[in-house]
Amino acid sequence: MLFHIVGAGPSGLYLAYLLKRSNPAHVVRVFEQNRPDVTFGFGVVLSGRALQFLAEGSADVVERLKGKMQHWSNQHIVHRGQCVVVDGSSYSAIERLTLLHELQNLCSEAGVELNFEHRASGAADLAECDVLIGADGANSAIRDSQMGAFGTRVTDFRNYFAWFGVERSFDAHTLTFKATDGGAFVAHHYRYKPAMSTFVAEVDTETWDRAGMAGMTDDERRTFTERLFAETLGGRPLISNRSIWRRWRLINNDHWHFKNIVLIGDALRTAHPSIGSGTRLAMEDAIALWRAFEAEGPGVAAAFARYERMRKPVRNKLNRSLDICVSHSYHWMIPGVLDDSRRGGPHDQTARIASETAWRRSHRAPDLEAARDRSFLPRHPWTAARPLHQRKRLGP
Ligand SMILES: Cc1cc2nc3c(=O)[nH]c(=O)nc-3n(C[C@H](O)[C@H](O)[C@H](O)COP(=O)(O)OP(=O)(O)OC[C@H]3O[C@@H](n4cnc5c(N)ncnc54)[C@H](O)[C@@H]3O)c2cc1C
Repeated sequence: MLFHIVGAGPSGLYLAYLLKRSNPAHVVRVFEQNRPDVTFGFGVVLSGRALQFLAEGSADVVERLKGKMQHWSNQHIVHRGQCVVVDGSSYSAIERLTLLHELQNLCSEAGVELNFEHRASGAADLAECDVLIGADGANSAIRDSQMGAFGTRVTDFRNYFAWFGVERSFDAHTLTFKATDGGAFVAHHYRYKPAMSTFVAEVDTETWDRAGMAGMTDDERRTFTERLFAETLGGRPLISNRSIWRRWRLINNDHWHFKNIVLIGDALRTAHPSIGSGTRLAMEDAIALWRAFEAEGPGVAAAFARYERMRKPVRNKLNRSLDICVSHSYHWMIPGVLDDSRRGGPHDQTARIASETAWRRSHRAPDLEAARDRSFLPRHPWTAARPLHQRKRLGP
């Protein structure tokens, strides 16, 4: 069979490798707009559980990747200089470019044809094949050229974020809240190489407006963010890789395939970066589609139907949980974090956030509305936070 895969991100490359490795008779061609050494962003986090899921595609690949990763088991939440340590998790992070290089090497070794600096303007460009896979990310040209057929829905969220790097090592995945007169900013930061970390900064619209960020250039916004988080950054500059402040875009598709075209990864459904699961979900889509072809052989329609039937309920369940986390963060956590009068002082606030984080990890809330109705959260967060094994004060 002839497969055309548009996009050499994690989903496209992993799928290409799995297809070719399991059936060397397949011709698998990947088309990528960028050069092999160019990508967006810095490092990505994968939870221990995510690595287990990815190993279902190829345990060898995950073992190979693990050697390139940073690992830790705690999560830190810092509010007004106080840090709460939430333990009991397992996380790993890898440089996005290293991940792509490893997957590119695996593809080349397996015999996949990799075509870089080849941009598809739409599905019609590369449709001369048995299967055309849109693995071309959130701004997918393959999907957008057939939006009606896929039933694509796009929602712009209100918060702004930007993805930076910093030459600094952090002990754990950390959420740092920073108060300003106009509202709160939050940074998600973690190391992905011994001396390099990802630093994603996020802010709600009202605070963005009050801080005057709408009228700034991207360079001015970076400088502003550096000053705001100077203590956290240890005075180091933020590194930009086309790090543009923007609103996050939720993409959904009612239909996952059309004619001989199928969508995977962010082209199919985006996952908010604060949740840190987009890469995992994208690579799991690749596993699910590969499995569908393993089961159905050359029956493209049957393979597509199996892929959607098997994967959609899992994706929907995960998506619901992700929506709840994001909604919770947007509606309460970031805007509410400054208002100590609501519950009782900064320490209580920090404990509350930590308890919620621990709680979110271990529960599945019934639906998105439940996230807006805060009653599903622990009633007495301080009490709920007590089992946390360690709390320490970092500053005055
Ligand atoms: C700020 C931020 C932080 C994140 N942090 C994490 C994290 O910690 N953990 C995590 O798991 N995920 C994280 N993610 C999400 C993750 O980056 C994505 O979910 C993941 O990369 C999706 O993989 P993909 O292969 O579907 O698409 P992508 O990685 O977007 O790859 C798509 C590829 O297609 C190429 N392409 C696009 N259009 C065309 C075209 N027309 N023709 C040819 N090629 C094309 C692109 O150049 C790109 O290489 C984060 C995302 C953001 C924005």
